[in-house]
Amino acid sequence: MRTGIATVCLSGTLKEKMQACAIAGFDGIEIFEQDLVTSPLSPEEVRKMAADLGLGLDLYQPFRDFDGVTPDLLKANLRRAEAKFKLMSRLGMDTILVCSNVATATIDDDELRASQLGELAELAGDHGVKVAYEALAWGKYVNDYEHAYRLVEMVDHPNLGTCLDSFHILSRDWDTAPIEKINADKIFFVQVADAPKLSMDVLSWSRHYRVFPGEGQFELAKFMGHVVRAGYTGPVSLEVFNDVFRQSDVERTAVDAMRSLIWLEEQSAKWLASNATAAASEQKAASRRRYPMELATLPKVNEPAGFNFAEVKADDTAQLEKLLGQLGFEFEGRHRTKDVQLWTMGQARVIINEQAAQHAEPAIAALGFDVDSPVIASARAQQLKAPVVARKVQADEEVFQGISAPDSTEIFLCQGSPDGTAAWTYEFGEGLEHPGSDVSAVIDHVNLAQPWQHFDEAVLFYTSALALEPQPFAEVPSPSGLVRSQVMETSDASVRLVLNLAPAQQAQTDRKTYQEHIAFAVDDLVATARSAHARGLEFLEIPANYYEDLDARFELEPEFLAMLKELNLLYDRDANGEFLHFYTATVGSVFFEMVERRGNYDGYGAPNAPVRHAVQYDSLHRS
Ligand code: MG
Ligand code: MG
Repeated sequence: MRTGIATVCLSGTLKEKMQACAIAGFDGIEIFEQDLVTSPLSPEEVRKMAADLGLGLDLYQPFRDFDGVTPDLLKANLRRAEAKFKLMSRLGMDTILVCSNVATATIDDDELRASQLGELAELAGDHGVKVAYEALAWGKYVNDYEHAYRLVEMVDHPNLGTCLDSFHILSRDWDTAPIEKINADKIFFVQVADAPKLSMDVLSWSRHYRVFPGEGQFELAKFMGHVVRAGYTGPVSLEVFNDVFRQSDVERTAVDAMRSLIWLEEQSAKWLASNATAAASEQKAASRRRYPMELATLPKVNEPAGFNFAEVKADDTAQLEKLLGQLGFEFEGRHRTKDVQLWTMGQARVIINEQAAQHAEPAIAALGFDVDSPVIASARAQQLKAPVVARKVQADEEVFQGISAPDSTEIFLCQGSPDGTAAWTYEFGEGLEHPGSDVSAVIDHVNLAQPWQHFDEAVLFYTSALALEPQPFAEVPSPSGLVRSQVMETSDASVRLVLNLAPAQQAQTDRKTYQEHIAFAVDDLVATARSAHARGLEFLEIPANYYEDLDARFELEPEFLAMLKELNLLYDRDANGEFLHFYTATVGSVFFEMVERRGNYDGYGAPNAPVRHAVQYDSLHRS
């Protein structure tokens, strides 16, 4: 698959954008006119720079408001087009995007449109230019890709074809299957963009909320599957207008963009393999059928089986040790060669890492996931351009395969074992003598704060590299703004990761200023809470108003309600079951949560999240 990206997706100058695209490994780019007009580089210099960088200049765009106009306007439009064709020859470019008219069209007549597009194609032919005509979702008369293609067929000129843009097609819910019937020679260009499903006017949706494939909710693998089946072999190019990407680091966004295409390529191949159109007997042959477009695949991974460990980094570890001890964790000892402690409760493992943590406030630094094969999972992540984490190990120690997530949390790919044990724990010496605890516990979920500019990137990262499935996002009110909360989980929910987008005020920089937590599930939360209470644990104190509201909503047994209140427990209930949980006070940027899931309760106590945010906000501003 030939990869491309429109310069409008990125921040910076044209030169910076082109360099970032080359570093990220794109085959070609679309020159967005505004980027050229504002550049000090001459067209010839742009052409040379692209050649030096090994980038194809695949599409010049956009040329607007051409068709369906009065004769006077047509004359002016053709003059305007010829100037662009001349410019394109200086750039060494041969394809231009012409969007369906949104502003100046006054005549709704396909015969007239076809004759005007025919004149344009003729003129383009004189200059060796190909015109890719695209139906904008909000085009005045032409807003449907099948309509645009009908016009292309009516004109029947070698220099006129169509451009398929996934946003314009999927935002309107047009059926994508008819793409297969388009003559591949007439598809001059394909643009892809994803988007969250929003209900708003389609122009604003397009201009501000497009995201890279895998970061939104469009069925892009299916769209691409139809494009491949049509026989198209040209560039698949990202055209993503997004307010955040346009102000984020250009090289980083280009890598995020490239990752989205690598992932989409794999997903498209998968879609084709599992949606063979032939009869059942021919399915196997059909699923192996070769299409003209070659689709690369990636090392395959299954979703992780569970959390292997969570790691907190800290310089001064005293408060963390105290908290874990009060919660009922056992100290298993120090690593035999490193400044690292291991604490466990049942199968929940917490590492406290004091290495390279000078002056660092306690913060979640790493997560380990159980995978079938750490080597294969790591190969996949690296092909998806995930940065590799280097960790010093001694000769006889388990080597962890590590990658760095967009928020800089280190993700370790660990060998899972059926009984839930971890071989590396033998590297930890005999711990202090502690009374054995028979509490069974697992890491239930981990909640990570994401800097606003890396949120979408994080969703794609965990989707593509770790095979976690994004769930519909929620917005949780907090005293300093709405917190966007995105659950990423495996199909059996054995791994649950919650990504929170901190309000801007709380996340001014890349530094983790926002609170994050690790939640542990136990069988008997009330007993856990009572023991923790007896050990002097400082609970997050829940206001009395909360319990009054709880009673109003759920009509709880008075003794049960009194017990919740006494122990600062939070409660939720839905059709599937019940949820009891409590939070510890925060140390550095970390706090812990203990949960008990009753029945098949599958949520996170979302109705209680605003209470937690408010109490934490209050305690932060009191101290
Ligand atoms: Mg487009
Ligand atoms: Mg939680």
